Amino acid sequence: MKLPFALARRFVAAETFEETVPKIKAINAKNIRVTLDLLGENVKEKTTADETVEIYIQLLENIKAAALTSTISIKLTMMGLDIDEEYCKKNLYKLLDKARELDSFVRIDMEASDYTQSTIDIFKDAFEKYGKHVGIVIQAYLHRTAKDIEDLAELGADVRLCKGAYKEPGNIAIQSMPEIREAFKSYAKVLLEKTAFPRIATHDDELIDWIKTYTEEKKIGKERFEFQMLYGLREETMEQLVKDGYQARVYVPYGTMWFPYFKRRLMERKENIFFVLSTMFKK
Ligand SMILES: Cc1cc2nc3c(=O)[nH]c(=O)nc-3n(C[C@H](O)[C@H](O)[C@H](O)COP(=O)(O)OP(=O)(O)OC[C@H]3O[C@@H](n4cnc5c(N)ncnc54)[C@H](O)[C@@H]3O)c2cc1C
Repeated sequence: MKLPFALARRFVAAETFEETVPKIKAINAKNIRVTLDLLGENVKEKTTADETVEIYIQLLENIKAAALTSTISIKLTMMGLDIDEEYCKKNLYKLLDKARELDSFVRIDMEASDYTQSTIDIFKDAFEKYGKHVGIVIQAYLHRTAKDIEDLAELGADVRLCKGAYKEPGNIAIQSMPEIREAFKSYAKVLLEKTAFPRIATHDDELIDWIKTYTEEKKIGKERFEFQMLYGLREETMEQLVKDGYQARVYVPYGTMWFPYFKRRLMERKENIFFVLSTMFKK
């Protein structure tokens, strides 16, 4: 059964790039940058992965042509990671050639823990070749992040730090929210100390307030890092951060394959479920 897009509208900008453009422009007009995410996951066939790479390349060109302040985020499983790591890497390089040509940027989203090692390996090779045109995401809930964050910070990588969105068992990920928050803070410290421009991705007031206080105490300028939030969440908080002089970016998902992303947002907070249920009963 195909669910109506109206359900997902709270978290997903639109089903096509053309319909997404006015929304990006409205966000940019508020002095907030965008990261565009064409939704989709786990491609199993080379023809689909090849098509996806071409769509991403076209997307970078369209962003440039429309003069949007936007980069893109991609998932390696959409570029063939389940098929073959070397093949996936070649696809990524094709895209990064275009990103370099257009002086743009591609961030590799972090997926479930089965993919963490291969994602970091592919990122490291890509970073050596493409430098400032590629970035990665690190999930604070993973036990292994304590080591990964040091390695990536040492490299000077461009890292987005988030809590982590996938359901992982206790031997792989921290399960309690207070502990995840503490891990998040300690990794944010590493990134702020050792990397040029960390991306702090959270809607959590405790973490946002902590970052503000910590950076003030350490005299780390507001131009040295960026807050990131997801489309449709905490818009007022984001606008206030910008008014207060902070850098901000919204992650804007779009596309027809919105269901897995939409489901993750619903599972995260019960308020999100109530919101979606209430929209079902509104015209
Ligand atoms: C830009 C961005 C990119 C991301 N990329 C990835 C990725 O590549 N891989 C991945 O695994 N995960 C990714 N995530 C998801 C992330 O890992 C978390 O699952 C998600 O952000 C939820 O955690 P949180 O810290 O934002 O807040 P939560 O843990 O959901 O909420 C904590 C507290 O924040 C406050 N809060 C949160 N939302 C609201 C709201 N709407 N209104 C009012 N208060 C609220 C409440 O006080 C709440 O108790 C990304 C998140 C962002 C923002």
